Amino acid sequence: MQSYKVVVLGDGTVGKTSISLRFVRDTFNHEHIQTIGAAYMTQTIVLGGSATKLEIWDTAGQEIYHNIVPLYYRNARAALIVYDVTNRGSFGKASFWLNKIKEEVLGPLVLILVGNKIDLTTSRRVTTEEGEALAQSFGIPFMEVSAKASTNVTELFVKVAQLLKAGP
Ligand code: GDP
Ligand code: MG
Repeated sequence: MQSYKVVVLGDGTVGKTSISLRFVRDTFNHEHIQTIGAAYMTQTIVLGGSATKLEIWDTAGQEIYHNIVPLYYRNARAALIVYDVTNRGSFGKASFWLNKIKEEVLGPLVLILVGNKIDLTTSRRVTTEEGEALAQSFGIPFMEVSAKASTNVTELFVKVAQLLKAGP
């Protein structure tokens, strides 16, 4: 079976662990548990009759040190750059993470910009248009999701798998 490493990047508390757990285990936790070390989980997606295994690497503390450790990005084929739509600071940092991962990974890399927590409609601080514009400036796809409400999370990983299968 084809298997691909997917890394999840973005500032602390944007929901990287929540998005990964929603997709892999279909669960949601209200607590923020800081992920220490390189945690990875796998999930298989069947597209057009053929199975694709995604090896999802959740944060390994790089959000605290603003650094990505080589173990984390080595052989990565896709990166999700996540921000929180209720937190403008995390949106501002998305370009930093995008540039950083592009610098580190030299081979072909599928990139997707992800705005999380769209269930928090009244405290939204980043518009869909702003997210779209940033993604467009990097020439990458954009998706808004909610790990809590389970909105667009499966769609997000299906998109990742499709882009990976399509190749560079
Ligand atoms: P990480 O540091 O990026 O891994 O963020 P976490 O996944 O630990 O989430 C940080 C906090 O945001 C936790 O309290 C989560 O319950 C909460 N959270 C994550 N995703 C969502 C979401 O889609 N909607 C809402 N309302 N809260 C979320
Ligand atoms: Mg985490």
